[in-house]
Amino acid sequence: MNIALIAHDKKKELMVQFCIAYCGVLSRHNLCATGTTGKQVAEATGLSIQRYLSGSQGGDQQISARISCNEIDLLLFFRDPISAKPHEPNEADLLRLCDVHNIPIATNIATAEALIHALERGDLDWREIVNPKA
Ligand code: PGA
Repeated sequence: MNIALIAHDKKKELMVQFCIAYCGVLSRHNLCATGTTGKQVAEATGLSIQRYLSGSQGGDQQISARISCNEIDLLLFFRDPISAKPHEPNEADLLRLCDVHNIPIATNIATAEALIHALERGDLDWREIVNPKA
């Protein structure tokens, strides 16, 4: 499955710790991420991650484009709900596209834990049946 990772600055350490904890399951999937998130997770875990631009430079829009093409099966987007971001409209659109394409998304670690266990159990395998990849 194709899994996308994004974490706001104040949530990056949490994302790193999450990916260390679930490195085993994540390593069985294709990972992509916005620039800095991907760099930090790759350095901490050794996971292979396709890195896009930084969120502020359009990386979230690059992930949005893949979501629009139904190329992302799960999005882990650890958001900082306190500080405002200049690229917030793009992020709102990213979330909207997940709803358009019925893509499971976690915006906090509690949901991410639930989804990663679902992924491990194969509960999300329906995505590959509904949306087979070449
Ligand atoms: P980053 O982008 O991973 O490049 O920091 C995420 C964000 O929008 O903060």
